[in-house]
Amino acid sequence: QADTASFTVPGARFHIGIHDESGTAKAHQLVPALRPMMEAIQDFTGDLPSKDYHFLFYFVANEHVNLFGQIGLGSALEHNHSSLYFFGQPYDTTFRNVIYIGAHEYYHTWTPLSIHSEHIDDFNFDVPNMSQHLWLYEGVTDYLAGLTISQYDLNSYTSLDIALAAAMETAKKRRPVSFTESSVDIVKANNLEWLDKILQLTNYYERGELIAFYLDAYLMERSQGRMRLQQVMQQLAQQYGHGRPFSDATFLDDLTAMTYPEVRELLARYVEGEELPPCEEYFEKMGWDYTPKGSRYPAYGDILFTVDRETDKFLVYRAKKDVLGLKKGDTILRVNGEPFVRGDDYSRLFRTVLRPEANAEITLEVNRGGETLTLTGRATRKLKVEYDRIENTANPTEEQLAFRKYFLTPSSGGGAAPDVRDSPGQQE
Ligand SMILES: [Zn+2]
Repeated sequence: QADTASFTVPGARFHIGIHDESGTAKAHQLVPALRPMMEAIQDFTGDLPSKDYHFLFYFVANEHVNLFGQIGLGSALEHNHSSLYFFGQPYDTTFRNVIYIGAHEYYHTWTPLSIHSEHIDDFNFDVPNMSQHLWLYEGVTDYLAGLTISQYDLNSYTSLDIALAAAMETAKKRRPVSFTESSVDIVKANNLEWLDKILQLTNYYERGELIAFYLDAYLMERSQGRMRLQQVMQQLAQQYGHGRPFSDATFLDDLTAMTYPEVRELLARYVEGEELPPCEEYFEKMGWDYTPKGSRYPAYGDILFTVDRETDKFLVYRAKKDVLGLKKGDTILRVNGEPFVRGDDYSRLFRTVLRPEANAEITLEVNRGGETLTLTGRATRKLKVEYDRIENTANPTEEQLAFRKYFLTPSSGGGAAPDVRDSPGQQE
């Protein structure tokens, strides 16, 4: 039997139905994760595409998860008024892990469920005639999920920067293909090719998300903050919607007509063409350091911190190959003579202890078992980055801070253009 809960946001009602084979997860536990998410999406879309919507979760008991059964875990399927989630046992009772995928599935009510081409509107199930625009249906959708989480500061494990870094890491490894051609071609092939396509399938999410990010940042800069992907999507939703499909063949031209003539060339290169958009340019403008996997960075050692909740001080969780002589459990009292508590913010710890300049010198005062020790050393180690990372630049410029702030500040829905007075971007 399903366990249910519901909540409302102004003008819309949401239902949660779950079945947990282990019987521990309860529907009401998901409300604190899903309600703020839907409030954010309502603000972002201006007009929710579905106002009576069901989130349906199935949690498999651990003993029923076999090798084959793992393949589908963590996946979901979208419909116009519901989405279905197939998960293993919940990590924790905050259900923070459902926010990204929940936002993704709900945004599908925008596209492809509402905004789509005639091939989807009148889909031929016998002889599928696939649309060219999987980049929109999956890539833009996934990007909007990450952007909403970061703009509205939702309590998700995955935020936009994390999602973009992961997308960079995988998209770079893919075979270059035209996204429009491969999208149409996706079901037409013999079995072997089909298997290869399945393996490449996540690229529509990864490279698609990078295309969406690049386009959004480009539009913001080009328009000096007057136009974002958000407004373009709202306009598309008004113009097309159910029963009014866009033209598969002319969509990129139509999209260009809604934005700027130069956008056509970007779409030609990054959607029709095989190139990855140069997202690094906008990471730089955002004041984000992008570090690809495998590159090396200077360090005092392989050090990890956690927080001692009682003293509110940083505690060494791991210290390997470190030149300072830190030990697990050491409490940081002072860094270069300055007192140091969590209230001083993680970014300072990050800048001084975790991401020093090469050969920088540091003095730490630590508490080890009641004794105060002074440790010093130079950042002579080189650590390898294990996965692509995006981190806030240590010393961002005013321009970078303004760009990032503007990019990550939600402009409330209803199609209203954001305030442009202090917007960054080029002068026209
Ligand atoms: Zn999807």
